[in-house]
Amino acid sequence: MWVAALFFGVMSVLFWALERSFPARRERVFRSEWGTDFLFYAGQAVVWNGAVVSGLVLVAQVTTALPLGGLRDSVRSLPLWAQIALIIVLCDVAIYWFHRASHALPLLWRFHRVHHTTEHLDWLAAYREHPIDGFFTRLVENLPAILLGFPLEVIAGFVAFRGLWGLFIHSNVSIRLGPLEWLVGAPRLHHWHHEKSENNHCNFANLSPIMDRLFGTFYDPEAAPLRFGIAEPSPRSYLGQLVAPLVPAWSVRAFGGSRSADEVVTRLEHASAHAAARWFGRTGVHGASPSIRHRWLDRPGGAD
Ligand SMILES: [Zn+2]
Ligand SMILES: [Zn+2]
Repeated sequence: MWVAALFFGVMSVLFWALERSFPARRERVFRSEWGTDFLFYAGQAVVWNGAVVSGLVLVAQVTTALPLGGLRDSVRSLPLWAQIALIIVLCDVAIYWFHRASHALPLLWRFHRVHHTTEHLDWLAAYREHPIDGFFTRLVENLPAILLGFPLEVIAGFVAFRGLWGLFIHSNVSIRLGPLEWLVGAPRLHHWHHEKSENNHCNFANLSPIMDRLFGTFYDPEAAPLRFGIAEPSPRSYLGQLVAPLVPAWSVRAFGGSRSADEVVTRLEHASAHAAARWFGRTGVHGASPSIRHRWLDRPGGAD
């Protein structure tokens, strides 16, 4: 627990300095839904990361039974730099296509869309991720390394590096990397991936934009993106976002409703916000603070 708290403190200071020195947009540190994203961080640190590590170890153990000995030997015979380059490219191809599928296939999108509900991009927003989306993302992006028999410590190094890179590309910084941008993506590319009207179309790569250039999804206009999120209404609370993708549509219909699970969970959130506001002696959400009003009322489909 204290490691998670220390890591959070170090990253907060580091990215506070970066986001303040090279801001891409004007943004407050404690912007709207900061608390929600902090809960996503805490949830990963305290619960979900352990489950992901156990899952990856299990998959690594199961795949040792596969007849891949010859392939693993030939990879091991390569020089170290070639092994590392090969594994980075293979993992980037795997996660590129999984990420693209996560936007195209409804079953995957219902979990991945949680990551896209954030309307404020900074380093902390990187943690807004449904645990099921997070587990399969970590699995797919490491599957080539697991299948080729890379040691778990090396895979842990890749996971840590990609995790830090993920924080950087979400952070509110305008740092450009010059010619290096051909090799590794600048934050601005991933910001366009989160742009409200573009987020189904472009910049799916995690690490290298070469994937997007190769497969026709590279997008980097002169202007910087300003609006983030998704057009469809979605739950805003941590619990609501965890639960809504797990509620099957048939179970909502079975009770005679024509609404989607998202609408049902959103209405439950509204009802509990009203109840909480009344309990605290206010006149419903209409009398609540501006940030609560923004969350529950001042958005399309937000008012009762
Ligand atoms: Zn995405
Ligand atoms: Zn993202």
